[in-house]
Amino acid sequence: MDISELKKNIKQLIFNKGAKLVGIGSRERLKDAPASADMEYCLPGAQSCIIWAYTNPIEALENYFSKKERMSIKKAQQIGYAGSWRTALILAEFNKKNTNYQAFPVIPNAKYRPRKDLPNDIGGDIRYPDFSLRYGAVAAGLGHLGWSGNLVTKEYGGSLYLGGVLTTAPLVPDPMAEENNCNKCKLCTKVCTTGYFSENEEEDMQPVIIGGQTETYAKRGTFSQCGIGCAGWYGLSEDGTWSTWTPGHVCLKEIPEERWQDSDFRRDLYSKILINKTLPENMRKFNQSIARSFGNAARLENVGLRQFVDTNPRCGNCNFICVAEPKKRKELYSMLINSGKVYIDDNGLEYVKKCDENGKEIIYYPPTQEEFFTKEELTELDNIRNV
Ligand code: SF4
Ligand code: SF4
Repeated sequence: MDISELKKNIKQLIFNKGAKLVGIGSRERLKDAPASADMEYCLPGAQSCIIWAYTNPIEALENYFSKKERMSIKKAQQIGYAGSWRTALILAEFNKKNTNYQAFPVIPNAKYRPRKDLPNDIGGDIRYPDFSLRYGAVAAGLGHLGWSGNLVTKEYGGSLYLGGVLTTAPLVPDPMAEENNCNKCKLCTKVCTTGYFSENEEEDMQPVIIGGQTETYAKRGTFSQCGIGCAGWYGLSEDGTWSTWTPGHVCLKEIPEERWQDSDFRRDLYSKILINKTLPENMRKFNQSIARSFGNAARLENVGLRQFVDTNPRCGNCNFICVAEPKKRKELYSMLINSGKVYIDDNGLEYVKKCDENGKEIIYYPPTQEEFFTKEELTELDNIRNV
């Protein structure tokens, strides 16, 4: 198989596995990018990165932001992560069977190494992956970094999941994306309840140069800051009118950056979340069950192998909101700010309290995993991670 036929077959294989976008980037384009874009770390002699994206269906996003249900996003996330990992393994195997080139499947999330190159890595709370799929995706022409720091594509915005494989095959790279489709609407910062990234300040920790172009994005905080919100321990808007998918009604936006950099502060915060005896028992159990799920994924060091039961989107707002169409983004934001708050009852079941169009308070229980999916669907979704 010649190299152009190989490229064609690789792309077709990835599209056949359900990805919506695929691109090829080169080692040359990543030569001035940060350390996590160094392909050599994962695969000595790597020449190309093959990067693809799975997306969130719009209806699933509408249901998620309006708090109708979160199971559709749970499903999209399982396909996005476990499906991406599966595609990476299949592609690496295809490469092995059909070529003499080496291939390295990139873990889509949950494997990080400390930034030892930074003068102050805040006690290991700033970390980076073996290979940054976002940087790879820019090099592969899928898009550019948006204000959130996520990849933003022309076709699907940033509401997506990336996967990738590195290879020693010198595939011809696809053209870089001409435009940056982030319009700086800053809705990504508005939907974040932790203040993880700045509304106005640009990140200056390191230059991100890919294919000769500098990528800019918002100044970021520490991992814990997003981690607490993304996990779903805490998540409340500044005005207290809406929450993320969590009964942890605490807004972290007002905490100054210096405090997050203090490891004692972070340790106290985690104790408050996980072992504080003054928390009602149902809340403590809820928080501990999140910790167990996170622990399971952390032990695997690969979110692509995570059990479906441990896949529980509760925030992810900065990524989810960033659909391609700015008008739709605003609609999703409006749904969120009118979506009310999540609570849990004494049995640990989550319910939503909000005002309907007439201003009348309503309470309802969104469907649980068992109510939303059939047994067969649950098995099928869990099995995606088993190649
Ligand atoms: S939500 Fe708006 S500002 Fe944020 S990354 Fe997307 S397009 Fe850019
Ligand atoms: S996942 Fe949630 S908490 Fe984390 S940065 Fe995004 S919006 Fe903020």
